[in-house]
Amino acid sequence: MIDLADELGDKSNQDPLYRLRHSLAHVMAQAVLDIRPGSTRGFGPPIDDGFYYDFVLTEPISAEDFPEIERRMKHIIKQNQVFEREDLSVESALERLREMGEPYKAEYARELAENHGLESLSFYTNGPFIDMCEGPHVEKTREIPKGCFKLRSIAGAYWRGDERNEMMTRIYAWAYEDKETLVDAVHRYEEGLKRDHKKLGPQLDIYTIDPQIGTGLPLWLPNGTVIRQELEKLAREEEFKDGYVNVATPHLARQELYYSSGHLPYYQDTMYPPMVVTEKGNSEGEEIVKDTYYLKPMNCPHHHRIFASRTRSYRDLPLRLSEYGHVYRFEETGALSGLLRVRGMCMNDAHIYCTHDQVKSEFVKVMRLHERYYDILGITDYYMRLSLSDPEDPKGKEKYVGDPEAWASTETMVREAMVESGLPFVEAIGEAAFYGPKIDVQLRTVTGREETISTNQLDFAVPREDRMDLVYVGPDGKEHHPFVIHRAPLGTHERFIAFLIEHFGGAFPTWLAPIQVRILPISDKHLEYGEKLEHELRRSFVRAEVDRADEKIGKKIREALTHKIPVLLVVGQKEEDEGTVTVRRYGEEKQESMSFGSFVEAVCEEIKTRARRS
Ligand SMILES: [Zn+2]
Ligand SMILES: [Zn+2]
Repeated sequence: MIDLADELGDKSNQDPLYRLRHSLAHVMAQAVLDIRPGSTRGFGPPIDDGFYYDFVLTEPISAEDFPEIERRMKHIIKQNQVFEREDLSVESALERLREMGEPYKAEYARELAENHGLESLSFYTNGPFIDMCEGPHVEKTREIPKGCFKLRSIAGAYWRGDERNEMMTRIYAWAYEDKETLVDAVHRYEEGLKRDHKKLGPQLDIYTIDPQIGTGLPLWLPNGTVIRQELEKLAREEEFKDGYVNVATPHLARQELYYSSGHLPYYQDTMYPPMVVTEKGNSEGEEIVKDTYYLKPMNCPHHHRIFASRTRSYRDLPLRLSEYGHVYRFEETGALSGLLRVRGMCMNDAHIYCTHDQVKSEFVKVMRLHERYYDILGITDYYMRLSLSDPEDPKGKEKYVGDPEAWASTETMVREAMVESGLPFVEAIGEAAFYGPKIDVQLRTVTGREETISTNQLDFAVPREDRMDLVYVGPDGKEHHPFVIHRAPLGTHERFIAFLIEHFGGAFPTWLAPIQVRILPISDKHLEYGEKLEHELRRSFVRAEVDRADEKIGKKIREALTHKIPVLLVVGQKEEDEGTVTVRRYGEEKQESMSFGSFVEAVCEEIKTRARRS
């Protein structure tokens, strides 16, 4: 188990990388002021992959100026400038900033003094350059390793992030502990740009966003729909092995449901506004509210009503209700992005109703299910985050339903289940859902970005009498409240497919690929043979298609490569005469000739076993 507090630590003082990046920010600002004298400065902090600095420039800068700025930075580093600290009273600090002609920094200094009660402010000098800064830095610029930084991009940024303020020019740079790590990180970033789902998704006909439908409400194109169906099929099969049953529920419900589940008022901000059904009143024609409906923000309450639809005995438990269910959340417009943040999504949802004694083994089973999926998809870079309540939180009473003892005991159960699963996890205090502790699965994308891809929650509160009052009859003949595990290992289609597009760079394994086999006749003469193969393959449920274009074979191959189709069958006179195919696979150089019969057998086996090629 890793302690999150340790990991985050007090970066400012311990981390040599933080010092390095901080120092480089000063070096870059010095170089920028050299070529743009008279410019003023905003902030210049270290960030996750390097640093940036904000300027109000006397003359614009573009990426074409990067080589010159980098050259000057190297020169400054060679001079071996020494970083020297000086602490000034607020008054002298303001005087100094006035002399330097730095109104933004002066504004910040005043704020530090007035709002945070700082009595002195530190300045660092290296060579001719002075900055108001907390430090720490390297001692001398020559400690900065050769080739460890690279200017990256320019962006506009409002002073203090406020759009009413002046727009500044922000220069970003990468910086790492050595040249090798830098080159690696830059490569990852560039690969990531190529794999961005917002670029590849529409390009591979997976999804599109249409303003007439609405932002955050993606339309799934035929290729994307195949991927959804394959994931649903995978989930159905794996859940079936684990004893789940499928259910189907409507997209909306009356408001009473959400009051009893606790989504109203807890969750109201993120729900779509209500649909109010009215009727003309009899005398004055006044509108009378007959009913109020909400689009569902979660599937849970619907499933809970299925649980409550008949008397349940302990012999019926665990009951595992599963549904790829649609939910709607009114996320802020600014937060919407491609498939990652949307307003309508389809979730790999299930609710497991069980007794106290079954909680741990059911939870472990869910974690094992995660492992199976990750194994099939080749996902290796992940960890679990166990989110717990914060018993010290003064607002705890509003934030968490149920009593502290119940929280403590469920948290223990989940922690024990996680230890037993053997999966890597960290603990995060105060991050729990309002109804119980949860496990978030954190995946690292190819670009190094961390995403929460799925969540499992143990819920002891919602089934109680003050909420949805779910009961089963125990061996003692009395009524008891079940525990509920909310789980969604494959997250939502939207978020998971965004992740998979980037994970595979659009080159999906055959079982998941929208088009699995494309048949390329060398000329029109062989079109008929190609069509015969297509027909045969589709009879075996292989997603095959013939390229009917009037193009040369080289062009057809290139076209198939841009769509990252896993298998190409090239067919000409020789193949037609012998009843064979020439097989070319995406990402592989060699071609292989085989009888059509053995090809069908091999490809069907590959699809059935959901094999990965790499
Ligand atoms: Zn600094
Ligand atoms: Zn749920």
